[in-house]
Amino acid sequence: MSLTVTGAVLDGAMIGVRCVDGAIEAIGPDVEARPDDETIEAGGMPLLPALVNGHTHAAMTLFRGYGGDLPLMRWLEEKIWPVEAKLDDEDVYWGARLACAEMIGNGIARFWDMYWQPQAIARAVEDAGLRAHIGGPLFDLDGRTEETKARILAETEALSAQGPTIEPSLAPHSIYTVSEGLLRWVGETAAERGLAVHIHLSETEKEVADCLEAHGDRPAAYLDRLGLLGQRTVLAHGVWLDEAELELVAARGATVVANPAANMKLAVGGTMPYPAARRAGVAVGLGTDGPGSNDSLDLLSDLKLFALSQRHASGDTTAVPALEALAIACGARAPALRDRSLPGPVATAAELLVPGAPADFLLLRGAGPELGLGDLASDLVYAASGSVVDTTVVAGRVLMRGGIVEGVEEIVARAAERARRLGLA
Ligand SMILES: [Zn+2]
Repeated sequence: MSLTVTGAVLDGAMIGVRCVDGAIEAIGPDVEARPDDETIEAGGMPLLPALVNGHTHAAMTLFRGYGGDLPLMRWLEEKIWPVEAKLDDEDVYWGARLACAEMIGNGIARFWDMYWQPQAIARAVEDAGLRAHIGGPLFDLDGRTEETKARILAETEALSAQGPTIEPSLAPHSIYTVSEGLLRWVGETAAERGLAVHIHLSETEKEVADCLEAHGDRPAAYLDRLGLLGQRTVLAHGVWLDEAELELVAARGATVVANPAANMKLAVGGTMPYPAARRAGVAVGLGTDGPGSNDSLDLLSDLKLFALSQRHASGDTTAVPALEALAIACGARAPALRDRSLPGPVATAAELLVPGAPADFLLLRGAGPELGLGDLASDLVYAASGSVVDTTVVAGRVLMRGGIVEGVEEIVARAAERARRLGLA
């Protein structure tokens, strides 16, 4: 399978990209289509690596607008958890398909997911043509630890048997919903099997206070003591990490994923301390979090919130330059979020588009009002939303052209049907 894009603009130069078997084979001014290639003439549209959504619960599209004005614990206990107990495979499949369609529309090629019925999510991701790192959530406050371990091992095995675009991960929900013993088991199992660990950490101030009281350590130190902080650990939120924790996270090579929209919607009262994380050398990515608590999957909109909240919280307009923010949204600063085969962090998004890299990229409506003038990176961070994405290519396959994701009407209808079944719509 080969695809050649010509007439795209990268760093001000007109270039072409040829993709073979899901990877970039060649990129540059002299690239031309070969006889059997599928071709796209980009007509001067800017080329950008596809975005990486570092933390979500994709199938929660089903829960959009459901009880979202309640206090957090009432929302979870009265609205979310009782319905989640009734979810079946088809609910999760169509919820995740809807999320995938939206992510394709918003230029996301790859996402990190934590949700129930992970095999149904994997099926949705493969049918949609995206890439995902998927883990079924671990909780064991019900005391059913052994049952949970058996379920997770079976799910991990099933996910490993999926195609090359699916990677299993272990997804302990948080340090306050998973026992110390089970967290330790997660660390050991991840090390034995070479799996990534995806966990919510330091989202609320209460989580930090409770951790100090129960374990005598702040959350990152506690995780490290249990063997869970490593190069393939992805920490969602990290709002309350202090400087010593950030240094520890950097030393272990773990990644922090900021989720500014969900943090604001859930009123956590803080902002992931990006300037301190950068000083410490922490790998940083960006996530939408689940559509139940955002509610959008438009990562470019979250990128604006990320940049604005960092500037606002630090009182410093230089807290995160636009080019750097854009690199974060593409996963350039967090190698663990991307393909395993890629080398370390790179400074800019454009450096991800090299021969051998996954053929995951976008063509943008460069002549449109948002991107027609000014500096592209700055416009993408502050003026644009996902609607500037014209074409989404993932693994060398064209998943969206002209802003239209094929079959989206049916996907919305099927997801709405499932939401009605659950009493959500
Ligand atoms: Zn989350």
